[in-house]
Amino acid sequence: MRVDSHVHAFADAIAERAMAALLAKMPPGYAAFDGRLATLTDHLETHGFDAAVLCSIATKPSQFDVIRAWSQAIREGAFGASAARRIVPFLSVHPEDPDRFAHIEQTAREGYKGLKFHSYYQNLVLDSPAAIDLMRCARDNHLAVLCHNGYDIAFPRDRVCEPARVRRLLDAVPGLRLIVSHFGGWMDWDEAERLLIGQPIAIEISMSLNDLPPERLRGMLLRHPIDAILYGSDWPWSSHAKELALLDSLDLPADRMTALMGDNAARLLGLAPAPAAG
Ligand SMILES: [Zn+2]
Repeated sequence: MRVDSHVHAFADAIAERAMAALLAKMPPGYAAFDGRLATLTDHLETHGFDAAVLCSIATKPSQFDVIRAWSQAIREGAFGASAARRIVPFLSVHPEDPDRFAHIEQTAREGYKGLKFHSYYQNLVLDSPAAIDLMRCARDNHLAVLCHNGYDIAFPRDRVCEPARVRRLLDAVPGLRLIVSHFGGWMDWDEAERLLIGQPIAIEISMSLNDLPPERLRGMLLRHPIDAILYGSDWPWSSHAKELALLDSLDLPADRMTALMGDNAARLLGLAPAPAAG
């Protein structure tokens, strides 16, 4: 099974506006696709992905309902059968939402697989008491959590979700099904290698393929436990075609590639292989 553990997409009606707002915070020339769900679904089909974890982010409390409605519509087929089959929407709860714990319970009750948190967009220090309470609630409701890690291209380099905080969070919330993103910490690779690589911690590798020299990338992929590496693209910010070519060029052992490209994510998220149909 092939799984992309980290993608973003927007409904057609808001994609242009949403992408323009995001691009405005990024360095000029930052390449991206159009951010539309239909384009994402096309790319997933083209590159043989059976599933992709769609990471919406609640940047204010009221967005839980908006994200839930959009995720529900995807699941029900409002954006086509291919999207309904492939997209695994994670919901998102804002730390200042007065109903945050009820919303986490609702996420689990309605059959979603997990939640996305983003420390920069949600002003959430990853090992703060507020974050620990949220993560304990997610764990107790058997939800996976995908969080942003390392720095973020759109924000000053404050350390709010770096590798050291990941370790402290996991110490405080044992049993949390956490997926650490960006190979442990975007642009904080020394700390990621020192504190996370080699540990039994699930890590997806989005945004590292372009920013790490191939030899270092290969070394990290070989040193991390084979059952804890997950492919993620962070689409629309990177291209599956380019990333898959780069990964192939690293010449990793076949069993490691299979685990990386989807088997680990499928097991972690309890995804069943879909019947082979159009
Ligand atoms: Zn992302």
